[in-house]
Amino acid sequence: MRLVLDWDGTCTETDGLVLAVERFGDPGVFMEAERLLGRRLGLHEVIAMELATLRVPLAEVVAFLVENLGLRPGFREIVARHAPLVLSSGFHELIQPLLAREGIEVEVIANRLNPRPDGWLPLFRDDEPCLVCGQACKRASLPAGEIVYVGDGYSDLCAARSAVRVFARDRLCGYLDAVGALWEPFDDLDDVLRALG
Ligand SMILES: [Mg+2]
Ligand SMILES: [Zn+2]
Repeated sequence: MRLVLDWDGTCTETDGLVLAVERFGDPGVFMEAERLLGRRLGLHEVIAMELATLRVPLAEVVAFLVENLGLRPGFREIVARHAPLVLSSGFHELIQPLLAREGIEVEVIANRLNPRPDGWLPLFRDDEPCLVCGQACKRASLPAGEIVYVGDGYSDLCAARSAVRVFARDRLCGYLDAVGALWEPFDDLDDVLRALG
């Protein structure tokens, strides 16, 4: 059985892309994109809209995140004990510097970005629509066999539904309730560690 962790808002205390767009991008576009998520817009479209509002050098955003974005308590321990897969709809360029800051090595599947001066562009690793949810989603990147999934948001819903056990926080709880899926709450990753025994 493999433990799979979402990154933003799950391993990190808040969503790094949200933080970056609030600080350097256009919060108005962000609010509108989040409102349309799952209704008129798919996840990749929303991420692309938010990313396009960033027109600063990548190094500036990375420095800001390294300075301001904390990891959720228990992350170091859960990596040491369970060697999880981190499966993110975010970007290696914004994830790896935080892992480097902590001196933590863990397997990460994420997207890449092109920090163009006229608006950052996402380079999604996989744009094929999922057979289950109809969107490009995380399910296609899950390891074979049984998984335990830990997440907090919209991007986790489809992958979480294929897990034998789900730990959820924040908006993922409501999304799972809406489809009648079972989940267990967590606040920090120590809760997950304790529950896994
Ligand atoms: Mg998340
Ligand atoms: Zn799916």
